[in-house]
Amino acid sequence: MVTTPSSPPSRYKEAVKLFEETADALGLEEEVRLLLRMPHRELHVEVPVRMDDGSLRVFAGYRVQHNGARGPYKGGVRFHPEADLDEVRTLAALMTWKCALVDLPFGGAKGGVQCDPATMSKTELNRLTRRYTQNIEHIIGVNRDIPAPDMGTNAQTMAWMMDAYGQLHGYTPGIVTGKPVELGGSLGRESATGRGIFLMLQTLCLDLDRDPAKTSLAIQGYGNVGSWTARLTFKAGFPVIAVSDIFGGIYNEGGLDIEALDKHLEEGGALAEFPGGDTITNAQLLALPCKVLIPAAAGDAVTEANCDDVRAEIIIEGANHPLVANADAALNERGVLIVPDILANAGGVIVSYFEWTQNIQRFAWDEERVQHELERALLRAYRTVRELSREKEMTMRQAAYFIAVERVAQAIRLRGFV
Ligand code: GLU
Repeated sequence: MVTTPSSPPSRYKEAVKLFEETADALGLEEEVRLLLRMPHRELHVEVPVRMDDGSLRVFAGYRVQHNGARGPYKGGVRFHPEADLDEVRTLAALMTWKCALVDLPFGGAKGGVQCDPATMSKTELNRLTRRYTQNIEHIIGVNRDIPAPDMGTNAQTMAWMMDAYGQLHGYTPGIVTGKPVELGGSLGRESATGRGIFLMLQTLCLDLDRDPAKTSLAIQGYGNVGSWTARLTFKAGFPVIAVSDIFGGIYNEGGLDIEALDKHLEEGGALAEFPGGDTITNAQLLALPCKVLIPAAAGDAVTEANCDDVRAEIIIEGANHPLVANADAALNERGVLIVPDILANAGGVIVSYFEWTQNIQRFAWDEERVQHELERALLRAYRTVRELSREKEMTMRQAAYFIAVERVAQAIRLRGFV
């Protein structure tokens, strides 16, 4: 008999709705839907941390394993005030579809600790990361679940995770990806998500016969994803007319000098005070007259309230879930071409896969090989999505989900779950 799980909460509800629409389009059987509607496992842990001032704080930590039919669970760990169970669950599902779409032998997971890393010292973050790792260590593993960086975490966080895990299990570099290169990280991993977005942009320009020099970009977010996207696109001759961080942005109609901006930031300057552009707000950035908008900051950046302001012709989703469903629908209606997150930002997890394979083989690739294989994997997925979207007159997001959900469903059938 088929039973329905308890109704999922808000943000996740939107993810389930998209899944159901895809399942309808695929004619997916009810038993497979039932398995895919809710995550396989959700762990909620207390993360007590002795703060530098001697006080004890207890943070909420999560690891959600959405689906593992295609391989070990894979996905980042987010340190963010909004990283609650609903968000982590939503992002875990996105990882299942992302890994399937780019054909990696991984399932999907996500972790999170509800904290504000910007207000914490390095020693506090080190203790937090170790305690979180100890508390989830029984459900992760090289062939079970492999964490990686996400918002608020980086290569240093992964080094601490690997070390904490290694204290219990011995030297295990393949337990996390996105590590420093000195500790078994892959060359090209840090820039991989930005490189993937750049590859999408470059290929779209070829497909749509657009001149990069006339294809202006506005990039929201200047963390790992936004900054690497800006660097690589600038180098290739795209005018990057605006970038921002949480404090605000800068705009220059003729294009910003990204190398000069990086130098300004290295010297300790604030992004919004860069002399090579005018200061703007994040809301103004989203509304700029640019050809391509790249939201590469937090989720839900474009909502029903501001989607009418967007003037870009193309949106490439650098962040996970930067468009709420209604905004996505309204923008599609207006003919905006949207490259969905599970394709656009998959470069990161693709190179995570390369890092994992290098770790388990104890063999390091050179950067040229990493980039070549990244391009191959990502462009193959892009072509499959573009062709299906044309053939079935679907949006790129619908086509991407169509491919991903069917692949996961087939793995479930072959394993004999249904
Ligand atoms: N956090 C990244 C993402 O959302 C990378 C995940 C990974 O490399 O496992 O895709």
